[in-house]
Formats: sequence, C-alpha cells, structure tokens
Amino acid sequence: MIKTKSYAAQSSTSALAPFEIQRRSPGPDDVQIEILFCGVCHSDLHTARNEWKNTLYPSVPGHEIVGRIVATGNKVQGFKLGDIVGVGCMVDSCGHCHPCHEGEEQYCENGFTGTYNGPVFGGENTFGGYSQTIVVKESFVLHIKHDVKDLASVAPLLCAGITTYSPLRHWNVGPGKKVGIVGLGGLGHVGVKIAHAMGAHVVLFTTSTKKIEDGKRLGADEVCISTDPAQMAAHANQLDFILNTVAAPHNLDPFLQLLTLNGTMTLVGAPAEPHPAPGVFNLIFKRRQLAGSLIGGIRETQEMLDFCAQHNIVSDIEIIPMSYINTAYERMLRSDVKYRFVIDMADL
Ligand code: NAP
Ligand code: ZN
Repeated sequence: MIKTKSYAAQSSTSALAPFEIQRRSPGPDDVQIEILFCGVCHSDLHTARNEWKNTLYPSVPGHEIVGRIVATGNKVQGFKLGDIVGVGCMVDSCGHCHPCHEGEEQYCENGFTGTYNGPVFGGENTFGGYSQTIVVKESFVLHIKHDVKDLASVAPLLCAGITTYSPLRHWNVGPGKKVGIVGLGGLGHVGVKIAHAMGAHVVLFTTSTKKIEDGKRLGADEVCISTDPAQMAAHANQLDFILNTVAAPHNLDPFLQLLTLNGTMTLVGAPAEPHPAPGVFNLIFKRRQLAGSLIGGIRETQEMLDFCAQHNIVSDIEIIPMSYINTAYERMLRSDVKYRFVIDMADL
C-alpha cells in the first residue's frame, strides 16, 4: 500500500481538510501517477456536500487529473515511466456488457467505478484527484499531446471537455448547425470552444451580463442574456441543438421554445433538486426532444483530448493551492471564477 496525502470531507457539513489515504500498490495492469494538477468540477462540490444523497465518507473529490507516471505494472504496454497522462471520471467498468464493448463505459450496465465515490451501484469507496498520487488500470488512462506548459489548463478537459464534446458529437453538431450553450461555467466555457471548433454557429445563453465579452472571445457568435425575454424571443424556433450545463434547477421552457422542429436540448447539468417539469406543448408541437448525457467513454475521451490538442483548446483557469479549496467552492457557487479552478498539487 502507498501512503498518500489528500484533502477530504468527513461529512456533508465539514470543510475539506488534510487526510491520509492508502493507494494499492500497482498491479500488473496498473500505472501509478504522481498528480500534478486537478481541476475543480461542480460535481466535486455536489459530492463533498452530499447534494446527490449518495456520498461515501471520507470523500476525496477530483476527477480532472493530470500527472506523471512514476511506476508501471509488468503487463502495461501503452505507457512508460515519465509519461504525462490524464485520468477523468472513471477508473473501471465491468468490461463485458454491451456499452463497455461499444467503448461507452460510462453507461456500463454493471456500474462503472467512479474515480471518486466508488462504484455508482455499491462497493468500496474510491478516492479522487485531490491527492498526491493515484493508481489506475492502464485502460482508463489517457495520453496527453498538448504542450507541457499547458498542463494545468488541460486538466479540466478530463471532465468538462468530454462532458461537452460527447453530446456535441452524438447530436452531430458541425457546420450549418445553430447550437446553444446554456451557462458559462466550467463545462459551458469549454463547450463554447469545442462547438465553435466543430464549425457550428454558437449562441451562448448566460444569466450574467458581465460575461458577454468573454463569451465572444471564447468563440460564441452571439451571446443572449437568458433572463431577458426580448433577447430570448429573438432566437425562437432557431436552434438545432442546445447543451444545458446549468448546475441549479431552472425553468426549461424558455429554452425548449428556441429549438427548431426536431431540435434537441440535452441536459448535462445535474442539480441537487429537479427542474420544474417542462410544458408538454413545447415538446409536442415541434417534435422537440429533451435528453441527457453522461461524461463520455474512454475512447471518446482520447478523441476529445486529441481534437482539443489539434485545435489549441484548453480551459481558462485560475490556479490555486489545495488549502484554498473551501474558498474556491464558495466562489464557484457565486460563478466567481474564469472559468475553472485548478489545484496545483505541488503545494499539497
Ligand atoms: P459551474 O462552473 O458552477 O457552472 C455552472 C453555470 O451555470 C454557472 O457558471 C452559471 O452560468 C450557471 N448557473 C449557476 N446557477 C444558476 C442559476 N441558479 N440559474 C441559472 N444559471 C445558473 O459548474 P460546472 O462544473 O460547469 O458543472 C455544471 C453542472 O454539470 C453541475 O451540476 C455538475 O455536477 C454537472 N456535471 C455533469 C456531468 C455529466 O456527465 N452530465 C459532468 C460534469 C459535471 P451563467 O453565469 O453563465 O448563467
Ligand atoms: Zn466533473
């Protein structure tokens, strides 16, 4: 076993604080990674505070991990000592169900193993990236081709990147399509960059008037203040696809009304409380669809990282020491970050 420094929440109301965990010694198929940077996802906060009512304590969040390989098992073929790699939201899955065969381990019928908070459907707890080192099966480790100087800004791609890339690909976003991104936070700002790089016409929907210039700089062709009915009305029936990243319950109808005939709005934001039920007529009259999407598979995560490297896409970040995490959570709740906190593990 490997003694490992980490930061953990001991209950839904306790602040995160230093805590020692044990990592397994690398098995034949494992690599051990010294964690260099870890992004701070809103899911970390939902989990640390038990907002989804499924948290196992102690809870060590963090699933936007970038680091360096410091040990490899004797059967490892794809990685070598010193490689710079990433780990996202999953560290294992059953490997034999239909979704696993299709490379969509996030929909594993037997429950994938989360990088933190253990298997979704029961089993031992797992500890995430707010820690010194992690041991992961090589088939769940990603290659990073970005420039080494950008590593901190690459970390958020491991969750925010794949969670936006996967639905944008699945719903065929590209040239000639008009796409809405709702919410300019960690997910949303990467979603704007990726949708723009895919060649779509991008409309950003934000509640914050202060984010208009940033939205355009990040790649939005238009920015709409979603609380202004007149601005919303100007987009009625025009969007082929909307990706909704908002982390709080809100009325979905004003967005559904913006979809074209057969248009789809996909929810990736996962608030603790449900959204009010949408009006059925907003769906029926234009055969619109309301959908959801969960992160993305390992193969697609590699594809996303390569796509982002090719298009020079990284996250806009604020680097923080581990000890700042509780303040960072409060600021994230106020949308007071441009646009992702990333923890520098050198300071752990
Ligand atoms: P974030 O950085 O906090 O961004 C959320 C954004 O939502 C904010 O920047 C804000 O954008 C908007 N927002 C927040 N509260 C709002 C409110 N009350 N009304 C309207 N808009 C509000 O969070 P994140 O890390 O991007 O994560 C977003 C959500 O996705 C979280 O619930 C997270 O758990 C979930 N998530 C899901 C998956 C998945 O696989 N489906 C993966 C990762 C994360 P504006 O200021 O622009 O309005
Ligand atoms: Zn996440």
